[in-house]
Amino acid sequence: MADLRELYQEVILDHSRKPKNYRKLEPHDRMATGTNPLCGDQVILYVRLEGDRIADVAFEGQGCAISKASASMMTVAIKGKTAAEADTLFQKFHEMVTGKPVAPVDSQSLGKLAVFAGVCEFPARVKCASLGWHTLRAALESKPTVSME
Ligand code: ZN
Repeated sequence: MADLRELYQEVILDHSRKPKNYRKLEPHDRMATGTNPLCGDQVILYVRLEGDRIADVAFEGQGCAISKASASMMTVAIKGKTAAEADTLFQKFHEMVTGKPVAPVDSQSLGKLAVFAGVCEFPARVKCASLGWHTLRAALESKPTVSME
């Protein structure tokens, strides 16, 4: 289990202890609840839109350090982006954490999100890391809930 410790890099721990944008966003245009029953993670995501742009985003919830840190870092990464840009970032993130045989990690566009690259070695953790993103997609598609089962 020594390798698992490498997952909890400083930045992940920091975001899980002091998550960014961790609050209820009022008013909001979209809201979705995502659950990952396997681990017991829950993310409630709020989005305020200005046209097609994510003007503000915040979340609440509970769960493991990875789910919380990933949701926190996602809110930082997508604020101000259009829904389409956020979706492109999600695809890159998803390819990275599922370890799809694509090009090396696109750290240029992923930025700090690249710290989750190590997650691909721990399949059980992939759902933790992508819960926030799936919840975002549900919110943008006006689906009230999403489950990672
Ligand atoms: Zn988890």
